[in-house]
Amino acid sequence: MIKERLSADAHEAVIGLEIHVQLSTRTKMFCGCELSFGDEPNTHTCPVCLGHPGTLPTINEQAVRYALMIAAALDCDVPSRNEFARKNYFYPDLPKGYQISQFDRPIAVGGRFEGVGITRAHLEEDAAKLSHVGESGRIHGSGASLVDFNRGGTPLVEIVTEPDIRSAAQAREWAQLLRETIRQLGVSDVNMEEGSLRVDGNISIRPGGSTRLGVKTELKNMNSFRFLERGIEAELARQRELLATGEEVVQETLHFHPEDGTLTPLRSKEYAHDYRYFPEPDLVPVAPTEEMLAEAREALPELPAARRERYVNEVGISEEAATRLAFQTAYAEYFERALAAADGTSAKGIANWVTGELVASLRDAGEEDPLGSKATPEALAALAGMVESKRISHGSGKQVLAKLVAEGGDPEAMVESEGLAQISDTGELEAIVDAAIEAEPEAAEQVRQGNAKAAGRIMGAVMKQTQGRADGGAVQKLIREHLGS
Ligand code: ADP
Ligand code: ZN
Ligand code: MG
Repeated sequence: MIKERLSADAHEAVIGLEIHVQLSTRTKMFCGCELSFGDEPNTHTCPVCLGHPGTLPTINEQAVRYALMIAAALDCDVPSRNEFARKNYFYPDLPKGYQISQFDRPIAVGGRFEGVGITRAHLEEDAAKLSHVGESGRIHGSGASLVDFNRGGTPLVEIVTEPDIRSAAQAREWAQLLRETIRQLGVSDVNMEEGSLRVDGNISIRPGGSTRLGVKTELKNMNSFRFLERGIEAELARQRELLATGEEVVQETLHFHPEDGTLTPLRSKEYAHDYRYFPEPDLVPVAPTEEMLAEAREALPELPAARRERYVNEVGISEEAATRLAFQTAYAEYFERALAAADGTSAKGIANWVTGELVASLRDAGEEDPLGSKATPEALAALAGMVESKRISHGSGKQVLAKLVAEGGDPEAMVESEGLAQISDTGELEAIVDAAIEAEPEAAEQVRQGNAKAAGRIMGAVMKQTQGRADGGAVQKLIREHLGS
């Protein structure tokens, strides 16, 4: 049979994510050991999480409640019973020889979040942490693997999406929205570098318009959002290349190496899918009561999606600005404080300053938390107000903001002391515009002939002359009047 060789570009990306969320309960999933991160290895263990024979697990009620909160936030259904199962495999990070997880009866099913279907979410326990030291890969080498059982038994919720995602960038953006939402629930630290949020990508391509799923690969080890996007991008490129040369995608698990962008297959025994799942005989099924469900719903704070709705519908800012604020809670809180302090300045104006110039200034200054910035929300509100009322130009506003970020202070006083007040006096501007037209005869001629864009050169000369203090709108009007464009 001759294989059809489709143009690789005509293929669409099909991506589903599996997200492991470490819950920040006080104790582990099935024993009373306290959770810890970064403590002395093997100091938070007991016979249960070390898998000693004859010990019995008990279910952490707080973990169940946290999972119900995640279910509510992702609009999932909660079946009347959920059950634990044993997922059998051998690995040194798993002392019992099986992981207690949920299989065919998960705690949550059938949800939706930011346009992507949620297949299921289930509870399970984390494995211990392995670190490899010395030279590995040699029988007589100095290499060894060390096991820290502190992490073993940490409660996890695994969220599985439908294959609804269509690009690497969408995968990254969606995962960031999910992280911010879970952070708001207060059920996890959601720190990718520390592993409390881990995202695996399932990736395939198919001819555009087809509804059949292609063969997928699974991508692991993407411990930042940037790597998640880059890893998926690299895998999509690899699959497109295979198809373009008439080869086939083989179902396998791949490891992404961010250092050089390569992908290597994991050895087959590391992902053997023969887990022989069977019901965990030592645990009873969990039957969440109506009361527990109601409590979980009531425990939800205002989630980013709801906050975005409120910003659009009640505060009156654009959907884009609302998303950017709502899904970065520190910025949302900053925005709300600035708004409360604003004296008649529009919400749109303040939102623009926060999402635009403030984000950029803090990034330049290497700062992360806007609420800890020397540029307080009150100062930013005053600054946005001066620009909106045309007391200062936008350019001067940026200068003031840079100073606020560096040393704090009162923007009104800065404008006074640095003489930044905007020049809107037509008489004064008129002379400056005249001089600029004289200095830019070529541009002036082009404007006269109807090329409005050439006015930018004249505007630039005016701004240079006034150190950015000229009222841009007034200057534009004067140029038009003088050159008749
Ligand atoms: P597995 O049996 O390999 O774990 P599942 O059916 O449980 O596969 O799906 C795991 C994840 O892979 C889900 O997020 C799902 O949406 C995604 N997925 C399944 N098939 C495909 C595919 N062909 N292309 C991309 N993603 C897929
Ligand atoms: Zn324990
Ligand atoms: Mg699976």
